[in-house]
Amino acid sequence: MSLSANRFISRPIVATIHTDAFRHNLGRIRELAPESKIWSVVKAKAYGHSLEAAFKGLESTDGFALLDLADAQWLRDHGWEGRILLLEGLFSQQELERVIRLRCDLVVHSEKQVVWLESLKNYSGHPINIFLKLNSGMNRLGFRPAEYRTAFHRLHAAGYHLHHMTHFANADQVERSPSVGEQMECFNQTTEGLEAPSSLANSAAILWHRNALGDWIRPGILLYGVSPTGVHADIVRSEFQAVMSLRSEIIDIQNLKKGDYVGYGGRYEAPEDMRIGVIAGGYADGYPRHAEDGTPVWVDAADTQGDGVICPIVGRVSMDMLTIDLREAPNAKIGSVVELWGNEVPVDDVAQMSGTIGYELICALAQRVPVLTD
Ligand SMILES: *Cc1c(COP(=O)(O)O)cnc(C)c1O
Repeated sequence: MSLSANRFISRPIVATIHTDAFRHNLGRIRELAPESKIWSVVKAKAYGHSLEAAFKGLESTDGFALLDLADAQWLRDHGWEGRILLLEGLFSQQELERVIRLRCDLVVHSEKQVVWLESLKNYSGHPINIFLKLNSGMNRLGFRPAEYRTAFHRLHAAGYHLHHMTHFANADQVERSPSVGEQMECFNQTTEGLEAPSSLANSAAILWHRNALGDWIRPGILLYGVSPTGVHADIVRSEFQAVMSLRSEIIDIQNLKKGDYVGYGGRYEAPEDMRIGVIAGGYADGYPRHAEDGTPVWVDAADTQGDGVICPIVGRVSMDMLTIDLREAPNAKIGSVVELWGNEVPVDDVAQMSGTIGYELICALAQRVPVLTD
């Protein structure tokens, strides 16, 4: 079926979110860390997949971790009764009332947040769960080891239910400092004797540092079937599935003569007479403008006799369109379906050809692209 057969959508570019792939990926993570509970990280509109789709596919998670109270509110409004963690905690003291009403767990990473929480008087509800964040070497958020234990004792005295938390800077690569081993050593030393559940691993640690998981793991990127390293080959054996497919259509075809140039700046020169396909999809849709010639685009099987073929980008990506070399797809025509990323073309591969990582591309999917779930 042609994508534009959906009568609500005229321009053919559409992102489809495969909720079964969400379920599959969550199941794979449970197999990798059967002893841990799972915070499904759905910040940034579930890494561009929409909170709605993530909620549908990840309902069996133990909790959702996010940044914005509005998203916590959305989950409660739609019936989520389980736990919600605010990954950066309170941005202001005023938020505390809503946090309590929405029954959120809080990360606490700064002295200021401790003071706000200590000032809560006459609260008689359920103890609030705090994930106290240790800066074990990443030097972004969290208490330095020398201050961590004091913060722990103050919040404990104020009646909060405490957990230990830290975040790894290099769980995806062995040779960089601080290593997971160094950060774990700092974590173990600092928290020694302070009994509390822990939350340690992000996606990369879940795959490659099984001794550094903690009672609550915090997978983000793996839930979406994208590689924590930026290299798709690194997760192939772990059998994660791409959750987002970004598809569009060929909206026009040009017959070039040898020596003709394509697009802005004339970056590509035709080495022979050839056809190029013009696709509805450009940087205003979230496709990276930096994509080099050779970046893969998949052209649907229906028009290529077989499994579909990869046709490389030729010429600079523009705001609303991009252009591909159709020499490998002689039957491709106007209306042929293409995949810009998804199961046929890993978003990691597009990212690598554009000087970035899959995380950035999925998060940057533009508002104007309709998101459907299946
Ligand atoms: C975003 C985030 C994660 C998830 O990281 P991935 O690499 O996507 O698995 C985990 N923990 C914290 C604190 C985060 O901010």
